Amino acid sequence: MAIGDELVGGFTLDTNSHWMAERLRMLGYPVKRATQIRDRPQEIVEQLRRELDDAEITDVFVSGGLGPTPDDRTFAALATALGKELMIWEETRARIERRVQRMHSMGLLESPDVTEGNLRMARIPAGPSHVFKNRRGMAPGGLYEANGKRIFVLPGVPLEMKGIFTEELEPQFLAAGSAATVRELRFTFAVEARFYPLMRELEEQFPDVSVGSYPNFETKELVIRCVGLDPKRVEAALDVIRKRAPV
Ligand code: AMP
Ligand code: MG
Repeated sequence: MAIGDELVGGFTLDTNSHWMAERLRMLGYPVKRATQIRDRPQEIVEQLRRELDDAEITDVFVSGGLGPTPDDRTFAALATALGKELMIWEETRARIERRVQRMHSMGLLESPDVTEGNLRMARIPAGPSHVFKNRRGMAPGGLYEANGKRIFVLPGVPLEMKGIFTEELEPQFLAAGSAATVRELRFTFAVEARFYPLMRELEEQFPDVSVGSYPNFETKELVIRCVGLDPKRVEAALDVIRKRAPV
């Protein structure tokens, strides 16, 4: 779930979802869906409930809406969805205070005092399973558990999101996955529609391998991509395509 009016409004490209989907696939946690939601508490709550009600989902990843201004509302919405109060997380407040003082001593901030905006970022729903530190910014990020699922909440700033993800989240919480095998075949000037019968057959013969066809109109290449948990099965599907491709 990528949260932000700027994403839905077409001002900013949602690179976070793309980055996370690739990373999660490689770690063995394939993504079922990626959504973009506006900074409206009701809409964030609705989407969170949808994710929590989905029996196929084990983990929810949320980015954005944790900033210091009133238009960032993700934690407030999460508190509503989980039926929890917002509270000041003392460790985060202390980190923000130290950061503000450091920035002040470097001449980057006029005042050494923590503002209401700064403090906002330390206000999170009660009962986190874990609070991320975020070495690159003030917004913390956290892990919550509900309905037997984990909800990871990360800042929207791509550098901060990636930092927390790779340094804190991956090693501690995503080490148990095993990645699927991905293999591709490329055909130049192939007519995609002619692959229809073969792909229908593969669907039946290899229900455990997902076969997708992706034409690239710039390179004039048709990419047939096979993804599956068992490398042997993926290779077998690939063999069938190599032998029978209508080119
Ligand atoms: P926020 O955490 O919502 O305050 O986001 C801070 C900044 O991060 C925004 O102004 C955007 O420039 C950027 N940002 C937020 N979400 C995304 C996203 N999904 N993809 C790329 N950039 C983002
Ligand atoms: Mg925002």
